Amino acid sequence: MLLPQLDGLDVLTVEGISQGGELHPVQKLLVETDGTQCGFCTPGFVMAMYAFAQSTEPRNDAHIHEALAGNLCRCTGYRAIVDACKKIPLPDFDPTSGASERGEDALRYASGEHLFFSPQSVDELLKLRAAHPDAIILAGGTDLGIRASKEREHFPKVIFTGKALGLGEVRDDKNALVIGAAATYTDALPLIDKHFPAFGALIRRIGSRQIRNLGTFAGNLVNASPIGDTPPCLIALGAEVMLASTRGERTLPAEQFIIGYRKTALAKDEVVVAIRIPYLAKGARFETYKISKRFDQDISATIGAFYANGDEIRIAYGGMADRAKRAANVETLLQVGTPSLIKIEVAMAKDFTPLSDHRASKTYRLRAASGLVQRFLFEAGGAQSTRIEAL
Ligand SMILES: Cc1cc2nc3c(=O)[nH]c(=O)nc-3n(C[C@H](O)[C@H](O)[C@H](O)COP(=O)(O)OP(=O)(O)OC[C@H]3O[C@@H](n4cnc5c(N)ncnc54)[C@H](O)[C@@H]3O)c2cc1C
Repeated sequence: MLLPQLDGLDVLTVEGISQGGELHPVQKLLVETDGTQCGFCTPGFVMAMYAFAQSTEPRNDAHIHEALAGNLCRCTGYRAIVDACKKIPLPDFDPTSGASERGEDALRYASGEHLFFSPQSVDELLKLRAAHPDAIILAGGTDLGIRASKEREHFPKVIFTGKALGLGEVRDDKNALVIGAAATYTDALPLIDKHFPAFGALIRRIGSRQIRNLGTFAGNLVNASPIGDTPPCLIALGAEVMLASTRGERTLPAEQFIIGYRKTALAKDEVVVAIRIPYLAKGARFETYKISKRFDQDISATIGAFYANGDEIRIAYGGMADRAKRAANVETLLQVGTPSLIKIEVAMAKDFTPLSDHRASKTYRLRAASGLVQRFLFEAGGAQSTRIEAL
């Protein structure tokens, strides 16, 4: 995170959770269950457990795994850590109280030649964008942060969307779910789960909770990475991207928003204000499958998203081209019946010429992507779900 993103927040590190020389209860539990070995990963686990202790989630395997995912132990010590988590008592206070307190004044932070704007309304955001077309827009910073820390990029002017009133809203509209551009994955998950359970299951595999508490759909879309997880889903679901500038508003289908490798149709003075995902029609089916080397906290080698409502079929992939893209030949094939795997593979090879890289070879990607079509057809035909998380 960039420093001014922390305005109005407390920062609590692992050194600060024990009081008066006493270990915090989650630390005591780790000691009691022998949940620490070499100790290298322990601070991360302790902080994940500390956050889990503030939540009212059930202390069962599914919730514990989700809370801990992203913390890697190389001494194979997970079982003891999970045992410690099962003993964490539920909080005796309301963890949501006070969560929506806001500062009153817009923050304008300057340090050396760096300027950081934190508009408090969408109006103010659009005016700042128009006045500073050279500024970079910052949402959660989970992509930009890497550019700053790993690639040593400097961002002399930053406009932060996180404090603009209303931009973090996630709401049920008449025909669609509307996700504000500053809403995080965590903010959107309850309604995503309700309307698009397969999408919810995928979101739980984006980074870890810490990343999902910051990262946004808007950031994922504008980043336009060919291996980003939400673009194929948003394309298959027929989502729209709502854009605004001081000149006015416009809406683009997600499919037309990403126009090339890390390139979008966003004009210099525009920002994304929301993403609209139409609800599934009765009888429509949506599934998405992510293939990565590790289940949690890993980037996709390929990801397929499938929407079918009678003849209306949309299939989109990530990891197969320079951007998230529809598989037009495969879609046509499915319109005329249930094809064999060989036919799917032939159509897939017409749609895509993927790269070979450290995540997967070209051959693997084509085969895996074809297999996912079959998986979708099997499941649509009533076969049992093969989702690891459902087993
Ligand atoms: C450890 C880790 C794990 C990750 N795992 C995954 C993963 O599994 N799958 C995956 O897809 N991604 C993953 N990511 C990437 C990242 O978390 C996502 O792409 C996230 O959605 C980015 O959102 P953000 O709000 O953090 O974007 P930011 O970093 O704030 O911004 C990203 C881009 O979007 C632009 N932008 C943001 N908001 C707007 C707006 N309203 N209008 C115009 N432009 C805007 C910014 O200028 C920037 O170019 C991971 C990242 C990390 C660090």
